[in-house]
Amino acid sequence: MLQSPVEFFRTLPKKVCPECGEKVFEQAESYLMECDRCLSKKEE
Ligand SMILES: [Zn+2]
Repeated sequence: MLQSPVEFFRTLPKKVCPECGEKVFEQAESYLMECDRCLSKKEE
């Protein structure tokens, strides 16, 4: 899939992980804010 840089940044997720500042991709079924890395850390 080729996207122009402008289009790419426009579609970037606006949420960021409050734990580490990592961008979090919005998931329709998820209410979680943390990124996958921080979530998996909490589960351990
Ligand atoms: Zn995180």
